[in-house]
Amino acid sequence: MKQIFFTPGPSQMYPTLFGHIQTALEEYIPSISHRSEKFQTIFQETTDGLRNLLHLPKEYVIVFVASGTEAMERIVENTVEKKSFHFINGSFGKRWFETAVALKKEAKAYEVPFGEGFAESPHIEKDTELICFTHNETSSGVSIDPEFIYKVGRENPHALIAVDTVSSAPYVDLDYQKLDCVFFSVQKLFGLPAGLGVMILGPRAIQKADFLHKKGINIGSYHSFPHLVAWASKNQTLETPSVFHLYLLGKVVADMKRRGIQTIREEEEKKAQLVYDFFDKHPLYKPFVVKKEDRSITVIVVTLGEKTEAIKKKLKEQGLVVGGGYGPHKKTQIRIANFPAITKKDIQRFLKAITTF
Ligand SMILES: *Cc1c(COP(=O)(O)O)cnc(C)c1O
Repeated sequence: MKQIFFTPGPSQMYPTLFGHIQTALEEYIPSISHRSEKFQTIFQETTDGLRNLLHLPKEYVIVFVASGTEAMERIVENTVEKKSFHFINGSFGKRWFETAVALKKEAKAYEVPFGEGFAESPHIEKDTELICFTHNETSSGVSIDPEFIYKVGRENPHALIAVDTVSSAPYVDLDYQKLDCVFFSVQKLFGLPAGLGVMILGPRAIQKADFLHKKGINIGSYHSFPHLVAWASKNQTLETPSVFHLYLLGKVVADMKRRGIQTIREEEEKKAQLVYDFFDKHPLYKPFVVKKEDRSITVIVVTLGEKTEAIKKKLKEQGLVVGGGYGPHKKTQIRIANFPAITKKDIQRFLKAITTF
């Protein structure tokens, strides 16, 4: 039976992926050397495509790691000698904070209840080196207004600003000049298989890593910023990377570019509107995030209560696979990934199915 994955990672495959995988195999992509010219062309096409799609400033560098979680660790490792600060409103923000603690940093946090956004900008100590935001908290379905992030950045000009956009890129339209490190992984909105993370590094972040390194601080080895950036300037990676992934990402990015980033963003908003309107009017099932301005466009969390497991099962029987609630909310909530690979028709099918339960 045909299945549609509304799950927030891994997710529904981007519709053109099938064709690209076939072409990749016909072109022997998995077998080519990562030191070949062909590889350098793939690396360049993929990074140029992303730069163009996301409107990145020229001096920002795109590098590749294994996952979003790896990016969290690399960013802390390369930009913090002592102090980081974390905005936490769900499990991924917490994971980043715990990563900093594990790396023996003095990590401080401003945490708000699950399902809520940040009401105010907290006091952040002047010697804080890095401030971390999860733009779209996939666990709770809360999204932060980028203006809030920029404001905290302006209030703390001494600190670097890092943003997790794993479940919102390329929907989120960011002013990268105001940010220092941004990352995402490809199994969410890009609709690719999991296992590749993308980091966007600004000049201040790269300089900070160099500074810490010269000071004798451990910034890691092969995936330290200086190493990643030096290899990227040659359109290469030190390790044997997932060439297959880099190739597929480049192709999907080109498809998204053809569809138009503005069109994609508008479609995302229209589809989200359908879902929120439906559940706002529903007598039993409600959007989990109460405040409209906190609601994520890309990951929608709905409280179904005790019937959750039974409803999920019935949806699955119709080929509609939705995500469970995160952590303690597993049995009472569902999460719906409203990613570009999900069409308006898919959303309508899902809503129609829900009306029968
Ligand atoms: C999925 C997700 C991650 C983790 O990404 P991995 O590639 O699985 O390591 C981090 N942050 C957010 C917001 C996510 O949705």
